[in-house]
Amino acid sequence: MIPRNQCIANIKAGYLFPEIAKRRREYQAAHPDAKIISLGVGNTTEPILPHINAGLVEGARRLGTVDGYSGYQDEGSLELREKISAVFYRGKFKANEIFISDGAKCDIGRLQLLFGAGTAVAVQDPSYPVYVDGSVLIGAAGGVAPDGSGYNGITYLPCTMENNFFPDLSRIPSQCLVYFCSPNNPTGAVASKEQLNALVKTALEKDSLIVFDAAYSEYIRDPSLPKSIFEIEGARQCAVEVNSFSKSAGFTGVRLGWSVVPLELKYATGESVNADWSRVCATIFNGASNIAQAGGIAALDSEGMKEISSLTSFYLGNAKRIRDVLQKLGIQCVGGDNSPYIWAHFPGRDSWEVFSEILDKSQVITTPGAGFGPAGAGFIRFSAFGNRDAVEEACQRLCCIIV
Ligand code: PLP
Repeated sequence: MIPRNQCIANIKAGYLFPEIAKRRREYQAAHPDAKIISLGVGNTTEPILPHINAGLVEGARRLGTVDGYSGYQDEGSLELREKISAVFYRGKFKANEIFISDGAKCDIGRLQLLFGAGTAVAVQDPSYPVYVDGSVLIGAAGGVAPDGSGYNGITYLPCTMENNFFPDLSRIPSQCLVYFCSPNNPTGAVASKEQLNALVKTALEKDSLIVFDAAYSEYIRDPSLPKSIFEIEGARQCAVEVNSFSKSAGFTGVRLGWSVVPLELKYATGESVNADWSRVCATIFNGASNIAQAGGIAALDSEGMKEISSLTSFYLGNAKRIRDVLQKLGIQCVGGDNSPYIWAHFPGRDSWEVFSEILDKSQVITTPGAGFGPAGAGFIRFSAFGNRDAVEEACQRLCCIIV
């Protein structure tokens, strides 16, 4: 038979969330009467709000008419790209610097094709799994080191209580692809303007490129915190940004996102990253659903933006309830104020063990920090993406347990 891709052989068996789902199924099978509540996966639960939903419905209706029909639109609808530039970047990007996609995760996976197997990669540790797993799949990283320090070939930048969840940038190698997520999944920390200034300065000094993941930018309520890397001077020369309608408009199942690749961005050889990205998108991706894009256009007008603000405020309300309970229990935690995740510290504990203990005592599913990287050991992530009743019930149950 045909040989297996060795890069896939390098990846650790079991993606984090399927593993949690498996443990949930096992627990349910052993306790058939248990009413399990999930504060685990970052999957949205609230219905899409009426104005944005009407945009989706209208997009579907138009496809059934001669005048309204549209087919392939590789880089996305011009109207949507111009709206994204106006709403998120004060019109500073041209339409050909914005690429519409089927989501930020898919873009992060495809972006790796621009750099290939030989690339040095640095990630915040802990981090959203696709940065590391995608690097392993493309061969930029090797197998798991036997000492548990992570994958060979990845530079882990620990984000801990001690450094206030912002890494030591001096550890970034030169000519490196640096993944940076703010507001962060899983820690919930949001980088300040000064911190992002330092990140951009380091990337420029080290001829490195930042992939900035802003998927949770609409959760930022503190106006002093940057929502985009492009609020930072010099970022056009060293960064691309990915973002998504998933967590702001509830499009996790609809699938719509975008990437911004500035025309100024160049490889070491002087060639344009934007031109290559356009080529990759046209070659292995045929554009986002036209229905999803109609929903995205509705989401970005004034009525849609009010709905985005109301949906994100709702989940932030959940986050506050969860954080308040944890703090009452004396558990140290961060996040949940400008992000939908709360990162709770259980010093010296194995996070899978804490996960099982919380499940046993309260039938609440969480996410063990160790699943996000070596520095996640001793932490648990709580997600605020639940229905209000379920979150309140989970909070009541958590109140009664001491882990
Ligand atoms: N980026 C981060 C940091 C995320 O946490 C997630 C989803 O949980 C995504 C991207 C995925 O976004 P999308 O649904 O647009 O693929």
